[in-house]
Formats: sequence, C-alpha cells, structure tokens
Amino acid sequence: MYKIMDGKLIKKQILEELKNKVSEMEEKPSLVVIQIGDNDASNVYIKQKAKMADYIGYGYRHIKLDENVSEEEVLKIIDELNQDKKVNGVMVQMPLPRHISTDKVQNAVIPSKDVDGLSDYNAGLLFHNKEALYSCTPYGVMELFKRYNISLEGRHAVVVGRSNLVGKPMAMMLLNAGATVTVCHSKTVDLKKYTKKADILISCVGKANFITKEMVKKGNIVIDVGITRGINGLCGDVDFDEVAPSTKYITPVPGGVGPMTVAMLGMNVMEAYMKQKEEENV
Ligand code: NAP
Repeated sequence: MYKIMDGKLIKKQILEELKNKVSEMEEKPSLVVIQIGDNDASNVYIKQKAKMADYIGYGYRHIKLDENVSEEEVLKIIDELNQDKKVNGVMVQMPLPRHISTDKVQNAVIPSKDVDGLSDYNAGLLFHNKEALYSCTPYGVMELFKRYNISLEGRHAVVVGRSNLVGKPMAMMLLNAGATVTVCHSKTVDLKKYTKKADILISCVGKANFITKEMVKKGNIVIDVGITRGINGLCGDVDFDEVAPSTKYITPVPGGVGPMTVAMLGMNVMEAYMKQKEEENV
C-alpha cells in the first residue's frame, strides 16, 4: 500500500516550529513581497504568503505596483529594500510584465535577502554545494524527503524538467545529497526509458496527467511538482489514480509540493534573518 507524502501536514509542522522560534525572539524577521500587476494566480499565491507570515509572526509588507510601472522604478524600490535593515527577505512575485526583465529583477535583490533563492549568486552557491538561500519549491521537496526519512544516497533520481525555478535546482540538490541524477526535458528522446529506471521520479513539467503508469517503476517514489489549473481545480503532472497504487510514496496535487513551497519561504526568511544578524555581529 502506498503512502501519501502530506505536504499540508509538514507545512503545518514547519510553520508551528517557526512560530515558536519567533515567539522567543525580541525582534521579528520581516518579509516584503512585491507584486507587479494583478495576475489572478499571483493574487492567490501572495495571499498564501501573507497568511504564512501572519501565522508565524513575521513582519510583512505587500507592495503592489501598477502593471505599467517602469523597470527603473522597480529596481529603485528593490534597492531601497536592500538597504533597509528592518527588511530581512524580499521576493518579487512572478510572472512579471513583458517590459520588465525577470533576470535583472531577480538579481537586483541582494543575495542575503533573496528568499526566493533565484539570484545567480544563490544558484551558484547551490551549484558549489555551499550554504545558500535555496529556491523554495525544490527545497520543499528536499524537506519532504528529510521529514519522511527517505535517504537519497545512491538512489537513482530522474527529474523531468530543467527550468531555473524548479528542475535545475532540484537536480543539483539531489546530486549534492548523493543521488545519481538524470535530468530529462522536452528534447529527451524516449522519456519512458529514463523514468522507468527511477527510484525517485520528480516531475516538474506542467502538463496534466503527463506521467502515466507505464512510465513508472514499481515500488518507487513519485514527486509531482506540476500544477495545472483545469475546470475541476488543480491538477498535477501525474495521473495519480493510475500511478499511486504501484508506488511506495507519492505526493498529491493539491496538498503535496505546493504547501511546501510556502513553508520553505517561511524557512528562508528565518535563515536570511539569522545570517544577516550573524554578519552584523562579525
Ligand atoms: P517551465 O519553465 O515551463 O518548465 C517546464 C519544463 O518541462 C521544461 O524544462 C520543459 O523542457 C519540460 N517539458 C515540457 N514538455 C516536456 C515533455 N513533453 N517531456 C519532457 N519534458 C518536458 O515550468 P516550471 O516553472 O519549471 O514549472 C513546472 C511546473 O511546476 C508547472 O506546472 C508549475 O506550475 C509548477 N510549479 C509548482 C510549484 C509548486 O509550488 N508546487 C512551484 C513552481 C512551479 P524544455 O526545457 O526542453 O522546454
């Protein structure tokens, strides 16, 4: 019988741990979320972040900018937040309007406040297996492995997807943890040949029911990062009903990796705060 990896439950535990920690601190860590425009999905994600910050007891500010704001103005605001000692974490909600460079904005947040872990600097630290602020979604998957006592060393992990946001940092984290990693993508020929061999299969594609029973080895672990919005609500990459019975562990959608992403943002804000205090005291 397969086991569900319950991201909602683990998120609750993490938030509780962070809340307890904050209740013993004299100063509260703080997070600023910048939103540009009024994307529906972004509104939902930002609400979840605000709720998380409120629950833990972090300081929280939501800066909502007009869709037509100039790139220069956005960079100026980020620069002010970089210099504000009372702000510990800054994240800019994606996607951005076309006239604003995602690359410029992600790298404008100073690495020590980059709680999304998406700057070149933090990605580079991950590449070198050094302490960093990590991209929240793959970091959340790693936390799931940790909390379910799933060892990665020597296991064959197959990651489907190679985006800078999920697939690539996921592969790097698995590699750093001692797994043997295969990364597949849209140009991979005969995808099933690789997914079939995975002890751990992580799908980060964004296509509903993309991973079918025939693609999965019996008794393995399946992590579904994908989110597709359909008429029946949220849907993952994995055909859950078909695939789950042959797995050992599987994450559902919703309630798997999604909640972990928010939890790890909470974790990153605490880590950013601690690191900044450490640096102030040197
Ligand atoms: P993305 O930038 O669109 O990347 C998708 C990846 O899937 C690409 O690397 C692409 O390959 C690969 N791909 C597409 N079609 C494929 C195929 N037929 N066979 C093999 N690989 C294929 O998306 P993303 O930002 O990484 O996000 C991936 C999914 O995760 C989305 O559904 C997103 O909504 C979800 N997500 C969830 C969370 C969460 O909290 N649960 C957080 C972030 C993202 P190429 O590189 O070759 O194009």
